[in-house]
Amino acid sequence: MDNQNNKNHPNNNRQGWGIILVTTLLVTFMVMGFYSLMRGSGPEEISYDKFLDMVDDKKVAEVSLSSNRIYITLTDEARTKEAQESAPDSMDSVINQIWGQAAAGENGDSSPDYYTAYVSDDTLVERLYKSGAEFKGEVPDTMSQMFFELFVTLVLPIALMALVLSWFIRKMSKGGGMMGVGKSNAKMYMEKETGVTFQDVAGEDEAKESLQEVVDFLHNPGKYSGIGAKLPKGALLVGPPGTGKTLLAKAVAGEAKVPFFSLSGSAFVEMYVGVGASRVRDLFKQAYQQAPCIVFIDEIDAIGKTRDTALGGNDEREQTLNQLLAEMDGFDTNKGLLILAATNRPEILDPALLRPGRFDRRIIVDKPDLKGRIDILKVHAKDVRMDESVDLEAIALATSGAVGSDLANMINEAAINAVKHGRQVVSQKDLFEAVEVVLVGKEKKDRIMSKEERRIVSYHEVGHALVTALQKNTEPVQKITIVPRTMGALGYVMQTPEEEKFLNTKKELEAMIVVALGGRAAEELVFDTVTTGAANDIEQATKTARTMITQYGMSEKFGLMGLESIQNKYLDGRAVLNCGDATAAEIDEEVMKMLKTAYAEAKKLLAENREALDKIAAFLIEKETITGKEFMKIFREVKGLPEPDEEGEEKTKEREGRITMKPVEEAGI
Ligand code: ADP
Repeated sequence: MDNQNNKNHPNNNRQGWGIILVTTLLVTFMVMGFYSLMRGSGPEEISYDKFLDMVDDKKVAEVSLSSNRIYITLTDEARTKEAQESAPDSMDSVINQIWGQAAAGENGDSSPDYYTAYVSDDTLVERLYKSGAEFKGEVPDTMSQMFFELFVTLVLPIALMALVLSWFIRKMSKGGGMMGVGKSNAKMYMEKETGVTFQDVAGEDEAKESLQEVVDFLHNPGKYSGIGAKLPKGALLVGPPGTGKTLLAKAVAGEAKVPFFSLSGSAFVEMYVGVGASRVRDLFKQAYQQAPCIVFIDEIDAIGKTRDTALGGNDEREQTLNQLLAEMDGFDTNKGLLILAATNRPEILDPALLRPGRFDRRIIVDKPDLKGRIDILKVHAKDVRMDESVDLEAIALATSGAVGSDLANMINEAAINAVKHGRQVVSQKDLFEAVEVVLVGKEKKDRIMSKEERRIVSYHEVGHALVTALQKNTEPVQKITIVPRTMGALGYVMQTPEEEKFLNTKKELEAMIVVALGGRAAEELVFDTVTTGAANDIEQATKTARTMITQYGMSEKFGLMGLESIQNKYLDGRAVLNCGDATAAEIDEEVMKMLKTAYAEAKKLLAENREALDKIAAFLIEKETITGKEFMKIFREVKGLPEPDEEGEEKTKEREGRITMKPVEEAGI
């Protein structure tokens, strides 16, 4: 990977400023030191009466008068005497002496030793005359001294600063602008060849089909423009995180064998207004030079948000977006430049971005279905050594809701797991452990629960499992465990789906709520008190009940009225109420009623099967983890049910090892 403009890392900028600061300080100190040395070594000021005394004592050899000062040069004799009198007790005076002698050596005896303020004194001339001192009325070169001072204190430091600054500017502009402002220095990557093809992207067949056309256009733009067809300028890849949007964009570049530029939408926007816009300009300039090529902007929502001025807006983002729109309008598609952008929040994008001629194609890259998951697992398992026990289909069935990046991660975790256990190949067990690690975190071996807590958690989990087994319309139990996990679960029940489901019936949803509340019901039944462990179950049960009422039209009271709509479909799927406050209160009441009925049902089921509950819980406390088979065996024994026939046995076997993502959220603690 060719990291183009990363020379201007923020650290470099900070370093740059640091160096400039230090240089400025150094120059200032140097100038000040030099100046004070100069001043300190020149004539010393004395009082006027002392000067008169010197004249009377015939110590003065020469006097020169300026407009406001009188400069005094001593006779050799007087100077030697003074030097002997003032003992060299300080560094300053040593410097002064050396300087004085040096100056005297250079200029003969003419450099003045003292100066005093000019006082209007008629007797002075006569006194000087009497003492035999030479005197002249000329100014001792004050102009040139003034210029010298000006040069040292002002011109020299400014010139030095300018020199240092210009050196920095030149150095930085080579890597992308002064202090990184202006150029697209932000994490822009350029790959000459991505090496990724559509074969590396599993599933997502519809998306690949749409993009195939784009590849063809990059290969052969003339074919399209020949008949006057307008080529697409950009395509927007929409889908949840981790579904392979970046991978698809890279595959387009790989298939078309063109360079791939990528950067994140957030990298455009900075503190300074105008920076983003200039980065967009710079990006397009660079892309033009490399055309045909693909420019991939990840998280385009960071700059492409609707330009909403109602709340004050964001100048920088708006300018950046405007620049992007202008660039997209401006470029000529025949050059073979294609902009691909990815987002998981298409609903907040500015409509201007989506109009024809800009990102006119929208390609949905959704979560993979069962077949897609199998294919993704196969792609990633290609380079991993696996033994014959591995059944990727079972893993795919167990991971409904997982996206490509989850699955890739699971295969890798499994491989690491195998290495950790000193094996050369990955087994199905490793894969399932990896699924669990990705879903609920690692086992928390160091957490020691008290005996009482273990009992409560056991009853809680068996409560869930038993309610599952006692109801129709539920998925069979696969595993019950009270080993805590790092992601917060103190224990959980896993259920096995028999096949991938795209729809849920009302009965199934109702059964789900009863199962979710089964844990709490067991606690209350056995311990006559309740714990905090059911928080997640309650949240899940409430969510299901509310959705049934507000979105699925499954309540008698509201019937088919749509009371909530989904926002952020590709992110958290958050719902927003579409009704008045009074209706909202009524909805709450309905939810409450539904939950109460479900809870009563769970308690009833468990109370009727108290013996099974106790026996299974005791077994779980002893073993910590039990399989669905062991669970069902005790259950059947207690209930006096016959063992399943061959076929049933086969079915359980077939399901073995399948778990689902749902129970983790549902089974809470
Ligand atoms: P997104 O851009 O949608 O957030 P990425 O393209 O960055 O997701 O996907 C992250 C990783 O997940 C990829 O590098 C790849 O290893 C894996 N991945 C995701 N989707 C797929 C897929 N459809 N086929 C193969 N691998 C995938």
